[in-house]
Parts: sequence; structure tokens; C-alpha cells
Amino acid sequence: MPEGDSLYRFAARLRPALEGRVINAARSHGPGPVPQVERIVGATCTAVRSQGKNVLISFDNGLALRGHLRMHGAWHVYAPGEPWRRLESQARLVLEVDGAVVVNFSAPVIELIEERALAVHAPIAALGPDLLADDFDVGLAFANLRDPSRAALTIGDAIMDQRAMAGVGNIWKNETLFRCGVNPWRRIGEIDDETLRTIVTTAQALLRASVGKPNSLELKHRPSLYVYLRGGQPCARCHTRLRSAPQGNDIRHTAWCPACQPVAEGQMQPPEGRWRSW
Ligand SMILES: [Zn+2]
Repeated sequence: MPEGDSLYRFAARLRPALEGRVINAARSHGPGPVPQVERIVGATCTAVRSQGKNVLISFDNGLALRGHLRMHGAWHVYAPGEPWRRLESQARLVLEVDGAVVVNFSAPVIELIEERALAVHAPIAALGPDLLADDFDVGLAFANLRDPSRAALTIGDAIMDQRAMAGVGNIWKNETLFRCGVNPWRRIGEIDDETLRTIVTTAQALLRASVGKPNSLELKHRPSLYVYLRGGQPCARCHTRLRSAPQGNDIRHTAWCPACQPVAEGQMQPPEGRWRSW
């Protein structure tokens, strides 16, 4: 599942291929072809960036492409004539520039929009502060998470709410809560300010480390995964068997250590879970 750090890496890979180049050809494939994509042919790409889980590609004619990958999407860069690593039938968008072919596979959302409309375009405008942005606003993310409308959410669901803060997906949800020692089924309204702030800064540090940026945990490499997909295995810290269970409306699997992330007094009991690796 692509998270903010994956999108950041996709953008970093696309940038040298596209920025400053003229789009020689643009084709979209079904299902759901990208309307009017031919309008970027002849335009020059001015910027490629990620924002939360979106990749935004801007052009000098005022248009921008927004891609959201959901579960299975990917961006690839090929040399002209190089065989693709995925089936052509999965390609959603193909951009040809001098020296490179950029292919988007399987993104459920790719759209062409006016750059000046981005600020009010709901999927972008509604995003909370981007954890990977250098000017990430911890205070705003904290305030968003503390919004009374979110008080009854479990912390496992809340930190993946892209309108509160953008970038955390299922991997870093699991790993952030393990590192903070917080049970994923605690409701956010039961979590004290200091712990909540630590959760935000830990998520930021893990995402930054994952893309090679300096971070507050002083991690030099992509962070180790302690619990993600490790249900049923012994905890790396205390050897207690990790548990895992589906969580949230979109049923993402959460794994946790019952000893390192104990149930707090009065909190909702987590589901029994299953001893298997997901
Ligand atoms: Zn443990």
C-alpha cells in the first residue's frame, strides 16, 4: 500500500525524467481514460511533487496531473524501447518525453486539473499538513487530531485520516504506535497531549527516515519494521507473541504487542485477533 514516503520516492524518481522536458505524447488507457490528457502534449513539465498520498505533475500551460495510487498503483520510468515490468493492459497513463517514457500502472485516480484550482480542489485542499514537507506544522496536525469530531476514533484509525495529517498508511501506523507503546484501539480522546504529540513526531520521523531525510529519531536508514505483518511472531523487544486484527472502516490489518502496547485502564478491549502474519 503506497504511503506518503512511497509517493515521495515516486516523485523523486519522476522528477529527473520529467522536469524541464516537453511532453511529446500522452496517452491514457481504460478503464476510465483521463479526460483531455492530450492537452498536455507540447507543454513543458515544471514540477513533480508529492502531497500526502498524491503525486502532482505541473505543466507550463497551467494544467496539472494528480495521481492517487490507492492499493496497487505505481509509477515507472523507462528508457525508450525498454520492456515494461508490468502488463501493458495495466497502464493507465503513458507520458513520452525525450529520453524517457513514464508509465502509471493501475492508479484508480488520475485526473487533469487546472493548477490554480488545486488549492480548492477537494482531494488536495482537504488534506492535513504533509508529514514529509519541510514546513510540516506539528501544531496544526495535533489540533486536527484533537478536533472533537475525531475524539471517538481509535488512534489506529485517526493517524491514517489524511484530513488530519497526510502521509501515514498502514505500515507506519503500525510502526508508530509500537514505537510509542500505544495500544491501537485506544480512542484518541483518551490519549494525553504529550503522548499524542509524540505519536505525531514519531510518525513524521519514521516517514522522513524512510526517504533518507534527517529526522528526530536520528535514524540513518529506512526504519526496521517491528510489528507490521508480524502477527503471531514474537515481539522483537519482549518476545511476547504479537497479535493482529482488522481495524477501521476499510479493514486494514493492525498488529501490536500486548505487552509493549498494553490496554490502558478503561479503554476499549481490542479484538481477540488471530495468530497469523497479517
Ligand atoms: Zn513487546
